[in-house]
Amino acid sequence: MQIKLNKNAIKLISRLEANGFSAYAVGGCVRDSLLGREVSDTDIATSATPAEMKKALSGVKLIETGIKHGTVTALLGKKTYEITSYRVESGYSDSRHPDHVAFVRDIIPDLARRDFTVNAMAYSPARGFCDPFGGREDLKARVIRAVGDPRARFTEDALRILRALRFASVLGFEIEKNTSDALSELAPNLKNVSAERILAETEKLVCGNAAETVVNAYKDVVCTVVPLRGDTHAFAQLPPLPEYRLACLLGAGAGDALRALRSSAKLARAAEMLAGSVPLPRDTVGKKRFIAKEGREDAARIALYRRTLYGEDAERGIEGLIAAGGCFSLAELDIGGDDLARLGYTGAEVGRVLRELLDSVLRGETENEKSALCAAALKSIKIGVDNSEE
Ligand code: ATP
Ligand code: MG
Repeated sequence: MQIKLNKNAIKLISRLEANGFSAYAVGGCVRDSLLGREVSDTDIATSATPAEMKKALSGVKLIETGIKHGTVTALLGKKTYEITSYRVESGYSDSRHPDHVAFVRDIIPDLARRDFTVNAMAYSPARGFCDPFGGREDLKARVIRAVGDPRARFTEDALRILRALRFASVLGFEIEKNTSDALSELAPNLKNVSAERILAETEKLVCGNAAETVVNAYKDVVCTVVPLRGDTHAFAQLPPLPEYRLACLLGAGAGDALRALRSSAKLARAAEMLAGSVPLPRDTVGKKRFIAKEGREDAARIALYRRTLYGEDAERGIEGLIAAGGCFSLAELDIGGDDLARLGYTGAEVGRVLRELLDSVLRGETENEKSALCAAALKSIKIGVDNSEE
């Protein structure tokens, strides 16, 4: 078995090796290349300390991102590479952070501190694989298995519980029995993990290909950190984007639940909007008013959400109307406040008339063209607007 590493990663590894250190690509990149999945970043582990890395890699642009943890980031081509000294961790008294980190010269203890066997493999072109925990075998069997004693590992760092579910969901793997039992038992420890880390893993978990299976098999575990008050089956029909899937899974309280997990305001708002959305108008004018009210992006998102979950067929209509490129906002009207001022309108009248003109355009009664709009405005706007939706 061989894997193809990115050229610049090989260059960094070779430079470290040429200076008398050992170095490997490690973790997710080895796992993903063996699976034939796209590799997001190539992380490198080495026997060199940060000071030694800087000497060995002189001429390469290096950023001191985490010297204390032994990490230096190299900038090569358009990518960044995290290079980290082999290290061991000990004493997780708070179920979150190791009390001690020590640098070591051998890669095996560094692999031993990693969470799962499929994440604890290293590879270098010169040295081949370093896979002391049977990661390749578990990858073939499609199994998530803790490195070492799962109870000890989940007690050290409870985030690993959620990471196990995340990898099972994203990769479509089973969780090995002992690992699975341990994570269910220790799920209450997840309360020690920061909201940000929980949310980051949860977003990936719910967007995985096997999310429906994993969420339902481990509902109690997930519920210790995220209140699943919505639909734990239908969510998987939605596009794999956190706002859609979390809106459906969390149900009515989605916005608050996400804010409690310190989500971005944008994600909380989007999920809240989707979870609270109401049936869409069936008629064209109603759909156009809906697009004008929500804005194109939100209207399209709500339409897709509702069509997927409730079979409302309005989505095509709304998408079609948006694609047809009509005018859906005051800013897009071919007439503005200055024009109306010239026609003699003042103060609050201006805004009222503009809104009436927009509705008239949405109803298809006035063309979005300056002279037609001026004519309509001059008719002293007897366009009979229905503002009941505002
Ligand atoms: P991806 O980046 O695709 O989400 P990854 O495996 O690279 O997956 P990262 O969170 O980037 O995951 O972590 C990089 C590596 O660090 C992992 O492969 C694993 O070896 C190790 N690791 C990360 N988090 C933990 C943890 N909480 N406990 C133990 N090892 C961890
Ligand atoms: Mg990674």
